[in-house]
Amino acid sequence: MAISGVLGYPRIGANREWKKALEAFWAGKLDQTAFRQTLREIRIQHLRKQQEKGIDVIPVNDFSYYDHILDTAAMFGLIPKRFGYEGGPVPLHVYYGMARGTKDAAACEMTKWFNTNYHYIVPELNGVSPAVTENKPLIAYREAKAELGIEGRPVIVGPLTFLKLSKGYKPEETDEWLNRLLPLYVQILKELAQEGVEWVQIDEPILVTNVDAEDRKRLQLIYNTFKASAPGLKIMLQTYFESAEDYTDLVRLPVDGIGLDFVHGYAGNIQAIRLFGFPADKVLGAGVIDGRGIWKASLQEKLELLKELEGHAASDQLIVQTSCSLLHVPVTVIEERQLLPELKGALAFADEKLDELVVLVKGLTAGEASIASELEACEKSLNALRLSDERNRTAVHQAVAAINAQEARRKLPFQERYSLQQKTWRLPLLPTTTIGSFPQSAEVRKARQLWRKGEWSGERYTAFIQEQIDTWIRLQEEIGLDVLVHGEFERTDMVEFFGEKLSGFAFTQFGWVQSYGSRCVKPPIIYGDVAFEAPMTVNETAYAQSKTVRPVKGMLTGPITIMNWSFVRDDLPREQIAYQLAYALRQEVEALEQAGIGMIQVDEPAVREGLPLKKSDQADYLAWAVKAFRMTTCTVKDSTQIHTHMCYCEFHDMIASIEAMDADVISIETSRSHGELISSFEHNTYKLGIGLGVYDIHSPRVPEIEEMTGMIDRALRVLDPKLFWINPDCGLKTRGYEETAASLRNMVDATRIARQKY
Ligand code: GLN
Ligand code: ZN
Repeated sequence: MAISGVLGYPRIGANREWKKALEAFWAGKLDQTAFRQTLREIRIQHLRKQQEKGIDVIPVNDFSYYDHILDTAAMFGLIPKRFGYEGGPVPLHVYYGMARGTKDAAACEMTKWFNTNYHYIVPELNGVSPAVTENKPLIAYREAKAELGIEGRPVIVGPLTFLKLSKGYKPEETDEWLNRLLPLYVQILKELAQEGVEWVQIDEPILVTNVDAEDRKRLQLIYNTFKASAPGLKIMLQTYFESAEDYTDLVRLPVDGIGLDFVHGYAGNIQAIRLFGFPADKVLGAGVIDGRGIWKASLQEKLELLKELEGHAASDQLIVQTSCSLLHVPVTVIEERQLLPELKGALAFADEKLDELVVLVKGLTAGEASIASELEACEKSLNALRLSDERNRTAVHQAVAAINAQEARRKLPFQERYSLQQKTWRLPLLPTTTIGSFPQSAEVRKARQLWRKGEWSGERYTAFIQEQIDTWIRLQEEIGLDVLVHGEFERTDMVEFFGEKLSGFAFTQFGWVQSYGSRCVKPPIIYGDVAFEAPMTVNETAYAQSKTVRPVKGMLTGPITIMNWSFVRDDLPREQIAYQLAYALRQEVEALEQAGIGMIQVDEPAVREGLPLKKSDQADYLAWAVKAFRMTTCTVKDSTQIHTHMCYCEFHDMIASIEAMDADVISIETSRSHGELISSFEHNTYKLGIGLGVYDIHSPRVPEIEEMTGMIDRALRVLDPKLFWINPDCGLKTRGYEETAASLRNMVDATRIARQKY
């Protein structure tokens, strides 16, 4: 019989109880015993929910006090010396010290988990002494069994993935490190086997990225060792987020089950299984329910797929499961009260996905007729959304098709445009500017709340925003910046602000997902065709421009960033969604230009986040991402200067794409990574306007003039001073007034010094 399985369940709780508990503990409002007890209750409640829904394979050890990679590092005693750890179970202050830093020790680095918006803590292997500190999977297994009688399946991050995500060792030391870690894994697995655990899930998502010959050898070693050391323990080797890179080798590994993603890796995995079949001695974990998407599955389609898979793996060897952990979706749709019925009806968050799994298993085992009513209800709700007006804006479809057919190109080439722009604006050498936002003080946030609650009228709120703009325009002039911004005081967040004003977006009340640690985000949902309704930023920008003779840069979030930070519909290719956004934003760009704004910045900090995991898919993505940016910006006059901004990620391998965006000026975060980016420009003669951030904005510290002149000098060794701009790394919304003013004063002073040299 086929059974149902889950690869991981969200930690945060339907009301973010988990987040609140963590933050209360950190603030000293919850003592350690109460904290542990609260988390235990949350954990057990989540297990109980899965049990009650009828899930057969329930994961344990997917729960965490912060992050599962940090847990793995802690379990193996991989704790950098600076945290003063002395052996034994890792105390919470050490654990959270690694995650968040202490007053004496800097936090470990944090980075994105594959191509998701979840961030994990990067293990540091230099100078640590590995040893098992406690068997966390075993503890989790025992708890589930004792409390609820659940025969849980412990989830463990596999050695290859763990090593590849760690830092602090040289590539040639990989095997040495593998040999050091393997005995620790073996110890964990042996203890699980002794306890009578039947199955473990070992996550190796790294196997969907490029796997080379050495990695193949390592995999052999790892899984041979496991089989030999804990022969009674069955291993489900789990991949996700894409198709398995090396299917034929993967299915030959000495494990008892292979988990494949048939949603995000559908094409590659189905092709491989059709071509090569599936070994008769293994269980197939068929990830057919999207663990990362928010939409209801078409049960009919999934049933067809499962029937096909049953043909390759015997039905008693099939687990109907989520494509990956449900960590990446919100908990439940049930409490949502403000969504259109046709939208709400088509959504499935974590809990609703549990139901889908159970229904599919029933359909598969008891026959399609046994789930006839579910199949009908499912098609009905999916149809309602499909047929809704929101998904059928013919005017948008036609306009997007038309602009897509044209080449997205500015009228004049860069050189000629730029000299026109320089003439119009008479900017000095090394013009100074900022990235857009100024401090979102408590006062600003309070005003927005009062207005949202209806306690402040629209007029009062507008007047308040205008006062903020007045203050900051005056300050920018006084400091001597060349290109000013209005400060973004009216915006909460760079995606939500636009989503609320464009058609095709919806906002949930409780649709939170964990981003990192206790930080959760509530991504907007792009469920319909995106359409421009009315100007979104013209009032504030034009107001700011009316207060100064210096140029004020308009400020928009770009199509790719809006898309990558939202949940998007799955009935259209992402490329088409990006073009719809581009078409809508282009109308905003044109509206700004008509209102007399001559410089317009279109931020694209999240371009890299959408980069496909498979190298072979990356060029295509970058090409349409670049095209979407150009569609947004190409219709302006030659004298209008287009800016863009990027941050938070590695750019060194993306410079050609950045150049292809053809923005007149780009500002890039550089100082946070200590100027590492600069060397990428040595061989790349970047030919457009560029500002490499001269100071990090993540701390309240005011940068010294010399630091910034040092950064400018380094940059100007490889870049043309005539094209160089001076700006901070990123927006200043998280900073305070005093430090912002002082930092920008120093930045302008550093620029004056630099201007005399070049
Ligand atoms: N214009 C935005 C700001 O200054 C850019 C934010 C970002 O890059 N994440 O806040
Ligand atoms: Zn930024």
